[in-house]
Amino acid sequence: MRFVLASHNKKKLSEMSAILEGLGIEVVPLPDDAPEPEEDGKTFEDNARIKALAAHACTGLPAIADDSGLEVDALGGAPGVYSARYCPGTDEDRNRLLLENMQDVDECERQARFVCAICCVLPDGQEIHVRGECEGEILTSLHGKGGFGYDPLFYVREYDCTFAELPQETKNQISHRGRALKKLVNALGKRLK
Ligand code: IMP
Repeated sequence: MRFVLASHNKKKLSEMSAILEGLGIEVVPLPDDAPEPEEDGKTFEDNARIKALAAHACTGLPAIADDSGLEVDALGGAPGVYSARYCPGTDEDRNRLLLENMQDVDECERQARFVCAICCVLPDGQEIHVRGECEGEILTSLHGKGGFGYDPLFYVREYDCTFAELPQETKNQISHRGRALKKLVNALGKRLK
């Protein structure tokens, strides 16, 4: 069975393909000329659903979409669904802004989590929704060169390092996206039986 992934991100496509291959699912990318829906949802789930429904409508294929970001408790959940658009510029600019906005936050109140919502629209139009989370803390300076986005500020106590200091494989196992993907595989496996 062939599914379209509502993303142009090649890394996401290969990660998703490798995981869903075992269920006999081929994952294809969104065509370049597919219209980009406005991601104006209030939650990660809303945005994942908006993208999955748009990809399904455009290709006629069952579709998978994900939406993720960082929630910081001391900032009332910000940057949340605005993680990619927290400020114009680069990941470095967004990390700088996050540090600025947290400069008065005590060490014991810097809890945060990465969240990933995945929506899958099946051939009959039914939907599967899963969510993965990974808990951590926001450091006061950048550590590590790996990963992307907010990884150098995101400290994971269990491994005593940031996401940017973890090998990619380890990050994939414990990350919000990895956890959501495992739930998707379980849910899809049951539905496609
Ligand atoms: P997307 O929905 O996967 O495109 O993620 C939206 C934004 O959330 C990204 O642009 C990053 O700023 C942030 N983000 C999501 N996942 C991660 C991660 O694993 N590490 C660091 N930042 C992330």
